[in-house]
Amino acid sequence: MRILIAEDDAIIADGLTRSLRQSGCAVDWAPNGMDADTALVTAGYDLLILDLGLPKLSGLEVLKRLRSRNSALPVLILTAMDGSADRVKGLDLGADDYMVKPFDLAELEARVRALTRRSCGTTPTIQCGALVYDQVGRVAQVGGSTLDLSAREIGLLEVLLTRMGRLVSKDQLVDHLCGWGEEVSHNAIEVYVHRLRKKLEQGGVKIATVRGLGYCLERQQAE
Ligand code: CA
Repeated sequence: MRILIAEDDAIIADGLTRSLRQSGCAVDWAPNGMDADTALVTAGYDLLILDLGLPKLSGLEVLKRLRSRNSALPVLILTAMDGSADRVKGLDLGADDYMVKPFDLAELEARVRALTRRSCGTTPTIQCGALVYDQVGRVAQVGGSTLDLSAREIGLLEVLLTRMGRLVSKDQLVDHLCGWGEEVSHNAIEVYVHRLRKKLEQGGVKIATVRGLGYCLERQQAE
């Protein structure tokens, strides 16, 4: 899952980035409205966390432009305590949720999960053979026991599961797993896939390698 944070306060942006990365999301940071607008036009995201008080281009303008491109990207607005009029305007312009600063990180993460789940438009769990993946709690289980997966492995599994039966290239995996300035080589992707594949073996779930092209999680009926 890839998230864009549009926030001019570096301390807030840094805290958000760290905590979202820890839960396996790829995170990009845009410190002003212009950069956010450019990023939204050029890269694919699963969620936008948008501060309304942004330099160069206001958060409301960023949102207006996004929706005028017919994007249905989920947007979570961050506003200052006294910004209730802006908050209402933001919701009118098509924001999905908002939080008032200062906010609790755990609550923000819960809302991020809720918004991205809603945007998937599916049930919170995905099944593949004996594997059951809970998209809300981000937990993978086989036969009722939880698999011990790293944040990277969870991120990788999510991408493969949501594209089950389809080819996913290494570049696509890099895109989904890394934000700007994060270097992940194709070799590293191979290592993550190798580890994840080992852990999924007990559930009979297979990640096929399509030589020179990428990977495919083989579709299986739920057990
Ligand atoms: Ca601000």
